[in-house]
Amino acid sequence: MRRPMVAGNWKMHGTRASVAELIKGLRQLALSTGVDVAVFPPCLYVSQVVEGLAGKSMVVGAQNCAYEPLQGALTGEVAASQLHDAGCKMVLVGHSERRLLLSESDEAVARKFAAAQSCGLTPILCVGETREQREAGKTLEVVSRQLDSVIESLGVGVFAQAVIAYEPVWAIGTGLTATPDEAQSVHAAIRAQLAAENAEVARGVRILYGGSVKAANAAELFGMPDIDGGLVGGASLNADEFGAICRAAGN
Ligand code: PEP
Repeated sequence: MRRPMVAGNWKMHGTRASVAELIKGLRQLALSTGVDVAVFPPCLYVSQVVEGLAGKSMVVGAQNCAYEPLQGALTGEVAASQLHDAGCKMVLVGHSERRLLLSESDEAVARKFAAAQSCGLTPILCVGETREQREAGKTLEVVSRQLDSVIESLGVGVFAQAVIAYEPVWAIGTGLTATPDEAQSVHAAIRAQLAAENAEVARGVRILYGGSVKAANAAELFGMPDIDGGLVGGASLNADEFGAICRAAGN
């Protein structure tokens, strides 16, 4: 039985003041004990959020890490070891905004995944196809390649300590959502790909859906057998909306 998870990706949003407001709202949420909740603020505000959520059962993560695990001469980057030191427990790797807008390669994503794990962080590997790829019938090919690049370089066993997020690029921040059936079929394919290598790892890994998840569509998506919760962008900036999504996953 997989424990559901809801992860809020704040992207490049926030100021010290708005982050303080959001923390206040999150602290007031009554969360079900049946769901893991994590938030991913911009790196600059990680310490503020770690301190602000102390004692609340919410994990704090980062949105990216350097491909080198340890601190060193890499201007502008943040090492997984530093994120761990700051109180992060998780990190997103391979978000589509980084893959597409910042040209992050599959190889770089795999290195970041390894860097995260080597520092005790749980990576959330983000995968997903663009609209053009979906229209060309290449969804499973693209997602499978993104997953394979981690399996080939690190082995399938690394997914025993990781989370996967399927995020169709055309659904991120657009208000468009994959239907529960569309999402389920990709989640099932991801699980089958892992199962071909290691059935136990495949059964245990949580696969989150991301792409315009909101309170109104969360329950239906999370009701699908291979959808174990959500990676939520825009809706995670509103504590009440985020709380409703967490409740949908907890039920
Ligand atoms: C995301 O950024 O990972 C995301 C899913 O965004 P949104 O929920 O806004 O589509």
